[in-house]
Amino acid sequence: MTHVLPGLAKPAASPEAVFDAVFRPTGVDGVYGRSGAYESVVEALAVMISRERDAMAEVVRFPPVASRALIEKAGYLKSFPHLLGCVCALGGGNQRIASAVARFEAGETWTDGLEPSDLVLTPAACYPIYPMAAARGPVPRDGLIFDVASDCFRREPSRDIDRLQSFRMREYVRIGTLEQTTTFREEWRERAAALADRLGISYRIEAASDPFFGRVGAMVGRYQVEQQLKYELVVPVRSTETPTACMSFNYHRDHFGQTFDMRGEDGAFAHTTCVAFGMDRLAVALFATHGTEIAKWPAAVRSALNL
Ligand code: ATP
Ligand code: ZN
Ligand code: MG
Repeated sequence: MTHVLPGLAKPAASPEAVFDAVFRPTGVDGVYGRSGAYESVVEALAVMISRERDAMAEVVRFPPVASRALIEKAGYLKSFPHLLGCVCALGGGNQRIASAVARFEAGETWTDGLEPSDLVLTPAACYPIYPMAAARGPVPRDGLIFDVASDCFRREPSRDIDRLQSFRMREYVRIGTLEQTTTFREEWRERAAALADRLGISYRIEAASDPFFGRVGAMVGRYQVEQQLKYELVVPVRSTETPTACMSFNYHRDHFGQTFDMRGEDGAFAHTTCVAFGMDRLAVALFATHGTEIAKWPAAVRSALNL
């Protein structure tokens, strides 16, 4: 199950040093401004990942908000209700809005004038692609590949440099038969390992589970590990003992096929898999591994990133 390196290398820079070099506090844990040097690394990573794009892949970029109905239908509230952020706005007509503002100005609570909208904050880049693909009719014989990205939100405030509330996710999504999705995920394990090698980061690829909500969720998580439905490429960022998931390889079987009635030409539900790149975690991992000054990073790493 574990793959590649027997031991993980200790990060060169401390989490505090990385934080000061790359993040600018905003007063909210896990929500930071980002330095120019840091953004140049995020952009370089994006270019590197784009070079790996399959010729048949279709590029779609999503905004940081998504349809609430879509996320409800996808089953997010069953699995991760604790992480979801919903967009609210003042509603109920001008009078009620004015009264909420007046309460604010009087130093009172105004937020009880908020009403939930039809939007949530996008929790993962791939969700919106499934209904979009399903709406096109039967999945073609060769299946589909999408290159998607989004700013993502998860309500998991933390002071850890690798756990943000607002972060960027890039994904390659494969839709097709069981065989097509399995092959894609296995190939991507190797390609991801090669990418990590070029970045000079220490890593391990291991079976993992998602943080499903509640006690039943914990069971689902154990099943997920047993069935190897999720792997993560983990990198020492804060420590070697608790390495950080910087990429994940997720197999959903035909969950989204069934949910969105997405079928192949033979009528069978489509299988889906996604490879997710945590852009902020990869960038943070690079600064932790190679130090806070890009100019002092190994030449091979800078050349791989064209920095
Ligand atoms: P973790 O187990 O660390 O919470 P996850 O299983 O929730 O990670 P995924 O749902 O697979 O992560 O998300 C895809 C990728 O997005 C992750 O591999 C990671 O790189 C990134 N990611 C997830 N949550 C965060 C976060 N809070 N801050 C920054 N990046 C994140
Ligand atoms: Zn995904
Ligand atoms: Mg998580």
